Amino acid sequence: MLYPPELGDDPLFPRAEDFSIVFKDKETGMGVITYRSFKKGELMARIARQSVPDLRQHTLQLTKTSHNFDPYFSGYFLHSCAPNVSVDMIKMTVTALQDIEADSYLYMDYAETEDYLFKQFPCSCGAENCRGWITGRLELPYQKPASDSKTDIALPKHAGCSL
Ligand SMILES: [Zn+2]
Repeated sequence: MLYPPELGDDPLFPRAEDFSIVFKDKETGMGVITYRSFKKGELMARIARQSVPDLRQHTLQLTKTSHNFDPYFSGYFLHSCAPNVSVDMIKMTVTALQDIEADSYLYMDYAETEDYLFKQFPCSCGAENCRGWITGRLELPYQKPASDSKTDIALPKHAGCSL
């Protein structure tokens, strides 16, 4: 299991022989790779619940006021505008959106779960529908502050693809 025992022993938790957090490259940082293949629509794993009140690195949003801190698995999913996995933070599941080959990185769309991102970033996923600049569902891009906003919002110093 990727999760420590105190998070439970659900048989659907990701197994260390199937998934790993690995260093992808300098630009992207760490990501989650799978060592096995999955069919489109297949349930891939269940995410352990560890609720925290604040938005941080390696969290995915549970509700408006709670976030799931997962530095063992889902907190390291990479972003793509053409994701290969879908994350359901009510069922706490990860499902394959397409056939996934062994040794593939797992990519979700951060806007699937997040109202706000820990940090916005430029995307280079290469998808035809790439949004270019990734934000949460409810926030405006830092680059284009709302017209009624009088405060300047600084660009993040480090732009990467992991939460
Ligand atoms: Zn993109």
